[in-house]
Amino acid sequence: MTATRPIDETELAAWRAETPGCGEVVHLNNAGASLPPEVVLDTTIAHLRLEATIGGYEAAAAKHDAIEGVYDSVAALLAADRSEIALVENATRAWDMAFYSVPFEPGDQVITGVAEYASNYLAFLHAHRRHGIEIVVAPDDATGATDADAVADRIGPRTKLIALTHVPTNGGLVNDAAAVGRVARDAGVLYLLDACQSAGQLPLDVDELGCDFLSVTGRKFLRAPRGTGFLYARAATTGHLHPPLVDLHSASWVDVDTYELRDDARRFENWENFVAGRLGLGAAIDHALAIGLDRIEDRVAELAGHARDELAALDGITVRDKGDRRCGIVTLTHDRVDAPELSSALRDRRINTSVSVPESTRLDFTGRDLGRMLRVSVHYFNTHAEIDALVAAVDEIART
Ligand SMILES: *Cc1c(COP(=O)(O)O)cnc(C)c1O
Repeated sequence: MTATRPIDETELAAWRAETPGCGEVVHLNNAGASLPPEVVLDTTIAHLRLEATIGGYEAAAAKHDAIEGVYDSVAALLAADRSEIALVENATRAWDMAFYSVPFEPGDQVITGVAEYASNYLAFLHAHRRHGIEIVVAPDDATGATDADAVADRIGPRTKLIALTHVPTNGGLVNDAAAVGRVARDAGVLYLLDACQSAGQLPLDVDELGCDFLSVTGRKFLRAPRGTGFLYARAATTGHLHPPLVDLHSASWVDVDTYELRDDARRFENWENFVAGRLGLGAAIDHALAIGLDRIEDRVAELAGHARDELAALDGITVRDKGDRRCGIVTLTHDRVDAPELSSALRDRRINTSVSVPESTRLDFTGRDLGRMLRVSVHYFNTHAEIDALVAAVDEIART
């Protein structure tokens, strides 16, 4: 890895000063929804005001270039082409538009991993029920990450899709998505990557990852408004796929009996959208790119490592993160205090965390026989002092 420019106190102070929430709470729920920086708020609110002042359609026309620029921002984030980007309302919709565009037939197989996200797995179960597909779960390697060789071993003539979660919602694990991408490419199998928790905290390059589809939400580590998300769809390998839903945005009604689909990734979008939020998403991405995703990754890993060490040293706490390569999510259990109780007592102290529940990643929870876990998720604007405050609070809550 190349050395990145370290973060100094002046820069950290500037990040916190431009994040209004930093003055209010200790925010360690960045995997749930992060705190947006001022520029995201200003951009979003300014457009809402413009809509209220001159009319919604008129505001969109006035801001046409800026709205189009959001596609460039997303493309820059992923090292993709802007024609391969669809802007949608959340990551669930992005992922669904990709998954349900695959024409499954009875006996077709989907290969996935142990850490797969609930909504994705529910879609597999739905496709199993509706189309008779087979769900194949590749086991983890010894470190707890998806084993690319195990994926390769399971590919057969009926394999239609490999669908993987890059960073699971319930832990610090970073799956080697690029290794799985090489396997998918060698086999010529479509590869759908859920990058919901990695976008904004890790650099992403779709060619390096080797994915054909990639889905992301705005509100998590990207620090964009809620209700924003996007899909990357590789032109060369997904251009022939028909979206599962068609409307006046994705297609045009050329004569009474026929329609024509858009020929770019916007065929996966739908008609009405949160324009102000899209502009906020663009601002959030530009903001992250200006700092540098490699620097963000280093900073987040360092803070999360500190949190893991300090929390693990507490009496009764077990840190549950898997994998060799770990990111900004830290999950843990206490041997006496249940996670929801811990999280709620922390919130009373203005420390935001969340709870990972078995329903969110059932294969992993069942495999490890785990109950609910406290999830602490750090971002680059968090400080060592905030983590120390969390650790002291957890210790105090557990004692009383
Ligand atoms: C949050 C999350 C999603 C869903 O994203 P939405 O924007 O809420 O639809 C999907 N996958 C993973 C891994 C997530 O953490």
